[in-house]
Formats: sequence, C-alpha cells, structure tokens
Amino acid sequence: MTVELISVGTEILMGNIVNTNAAWLAKECAALGLSCFYQSVVGDNEDRLKEQMKTSLERSDIVILTGGLGPTTDDLTKETAALLMGKKLVTDQHSLERVKAYFQVRGIEMTENNKKQALVPEGARVLDNDNGTAPGLILESGEKCMILLPGPPNEMKPLFEAQVKPFLKALNPCILYSRTVKLCGIGESKAAAMVQDMIDTQENPTIAPYAKTGEVHFRVTAQAQNEKEGKKLVKPVVKELKHRFGQAVFTTKEEETLEKALADLLLEKGLMISFAESCTGGMIAGRLVNVPGVSKAFGTGYVTYSNKAKRKLLGVKKSTLKQFGAVSVQTAKEMAQGALLASGADVAVSVTGIAGPDGGTDKKPVGLVYIGCCVQGRTFVQEYHFLGNREKIRESTVAAALTFARSCLLEYTGEKG
Ligand code: ATP
Repeated sequence: MTVELISVGTEILMGNIVNTNAAWLAKECAALGLSCFYQSVVGDNEDRLKEQMKTSLERSDIVILTGGLGPTTDDLTKETAALLMGKKLVTDQHSLERVKAYFQVRGIEMTENNKKQALVPEGARVLDNDNGTAPGLILESGEKCMILLPGPPNEMKPLFEAQVKPFLKALNPCILYSRTVKLCGIGESKAAAMVQDMIDTQENPTIAPYAKTGEVHFRVTAQAQNEKEGKKLVKPVVKELKHRFGQAVFTTKEEETLEKALADLLLEKGLMISFAESCTGGMIAGRLVNVPGVSKAFGTGYVTYSNKAKRKLLGVKKSTLKQFGAVSVQTAKEMAQGALLASGADVAVSVTGIAGPDGGTDKKPVGLVYIGCCVQGRTFVQEYHFLGNREKIRESTVAAALTFARSCLLEYTGEKG
C-alpha cells in the first residue's frame, strides 16, 4: 500500500520553517509498512493545492496532508479537499462544542472565524485534537483516502499516534522488518557494484546501501504480515551478503558499532591492544572506550603529536624521523613497535599523517596517513590517502585504524571471522 505526504504552507516553501512533519511522518509510515514514494510542499494556494491533491490521489492509495487547517482565510486544505472529493462542508456539532470549550476553559473570547474549525466535509471521520482547535479529518472515497492533520507538530504528532496509526494499521496490516549488514574496509561504490545484480532484481526484501565514514551499510527490509515472516524473507539475503563480503562484514546487528566488533574480537582472543596516535590525538582510543567493559582489552594508549613525544614515549629513532620524516612507513612502524613494548599489550596500532589544512607537500599531501599494526611479532604498515577537511581526514583515519586492527587480528591471530 502506498502513501504520500503533502505539507501545506507558504512558510515551508519559503524556508522559514523546517519541514519536520514530513520527516517524522515518513518514518512513521515506513514503520507501518507503507511505501512512501513522493513528498511535496505546496504553498497556501487553492489551485496549486488542488492540482497536487489530484496528482497525489491518482498515484497513491493514501495521501496525508499537514497544515492549512486553521481558522484564517489562507487555511485552505479542508476546503480544497472537500471540493476535490465533491463533498459539502457541514458543521460537525461535536467539533463545534469542543472549539467553544477550548476557548471557554482558557477564558478567551471565541472569534467568529473559529466556527470554521467545526466545518467538515460530509461523511468525513473527525479526529479530535486535544492540543488545538483544528480537528484532523479522514476522507475516504472508494479505494483512496486523504488524511488531513493540523500543522503544529505538537498537535499533529499526538493526533497521528492516537487516531491515525490505528486506522492505518487496520488498512494495511503489514510490518516492515529490517536487518543491517555493516561492512568496513571497502568503498561504497565497490560494495554497491558487488551487489548490483541483487539490487536490480530485488522486490521483497529490498536492499538499500548507506555510506558512513569508513563503513558501508546495507539495510535489508522486508514487507511482511508479521515479524516471523519478515525474518524468513530477510535471512537468505543477509546470508548472501555475508557470503559475498566475507570478513568485511563486521556485524549484522543494528546497534553494533565497528569499535564494538573490534573490542569483541580482542576479548574473544584474550588480547590487549594499545594505540600510538599522532594526527588522531587520542580519538582511536576514545572510540574503543565507547564500548563498556573494554578494560579487559585496552589498558593504555599514547598521544604522541610531536616528534619529541614520539621519541620519548615510543622510542622512535631520531635518525628515522630525520631520514624519513614523521609521516612515513618507518615512523609508523617504530611507533607501533614502541607502543607494544611500552604498554606490554599484545597488539599495537599506530597512526601518523597529515590532517591539514597546512603541512602538505607534493610528495606528502594533506590526507596522507600511515597506519601501522604490530601483532604476533610482525609489523604491517598501510598507506592511505583521505579526502576532505581536517575533521573528515581524522575521522576517516580512526575508522581505518579500527578496520586495520580488526583485519590484522583476523588474519594473523588464526581466527576466522
Ligand atoms: P493552526 O490551527 O495552528 O492554524 P494549521 O493546520 O493551519 O494549524 P499551519 O497554519 O499551516 O497549520 O501551520 C501552523 C504552524 O505549524 C506553523 O507556523 C509551523 O510552526 C507548524 N508547521 C506547519 N507545517 C509544518 C511542517 N510541515 N513541519 C513543521 N512544522 C510545521
């Protein structure tokens, strides 16, 4: 079943208010298993609103409108909807009493134009608005249905929750069931290309890729009658994705993070890790410490931003720094080895790079980063070239360091992922 959203209001069109209603409703509809293919914004103009309603009703089963239900003359949603559906506006006595009571309780005189709030299209279902004067309305015509809701979010949301949701659930007794397959160490375009055939032929479930810094997520979503059926539909697709991406899959759990996957791996293997960080200034350690209970896998790390600190805390040789520079394979290697020795950990990861905006050269441009990993008596170093501003480069470095640590652990400590 398809739903479409129309947000009414010139203020939204002009950018004076942010269309939070559409974002909120879109999420709610998705959770109800409704497919939302279109959203539009229309100003307070009868002709354009009518045109949009017509188009929306032709292509969608349910059209939800917010805004334009108030008492002023530029509030046109109800009138336009009634006109389009060929319904007369009649006074709903119950709503009129509620509007009167609303003003009475507040000790405010009710102006004449507020009577307009109680006018409803003939045959419409009236949804009581406990937080304002404009009631919501459901207009049904054959297979199609229009749902009119007030614009203010504090009126629209409770009204939707209490009265529209049960109506939609009865109309469309489906649910959406999703699982997310999260990958690291692979770019978005490569990952998408590897599943293009699945995306091209997808029906139910669908596969949607999302890119995050240093990660690619595939959200597999099935429309089903219940959770059991949803799980059954999603399972073979998740299995296929795991098969195609192998070790790059670090989790299929919605709430699980890359640092959690690394922490779990360390805990499972009974290994301690340490970090020697230059351009990330402690961010890698910070990410790992996000994970509760990680103290069994992480005891200490080193922030060695200056050359002096690299020498003093990690024992990087003066000659290495002089000959190859602070941002080099050799320095990354000695940093990792130094951190391993100083901390007594089983694995050590180092990073040294140029986060910019200054400090880049032709040979060593901004974004050049070396990440080292010392494990089982061997030290590996990888070179990266990240794009973006300082913040983005540092974030990418953190994700790459966690990914590199994970892959070294999987590769060189004899465990399969
Ligand atoms: P009222 O009964 O208050 O007049 P209404 O249904 O006529 O309600 P509008 O006049 O269109 O609604 O909008 C009233 C207020 O609701 C706006 O000034 C804005 O603060 C908020 N609002 C309207 N539409 C949206 C939207 N799409 N997203 C977020 N806020 C909105």
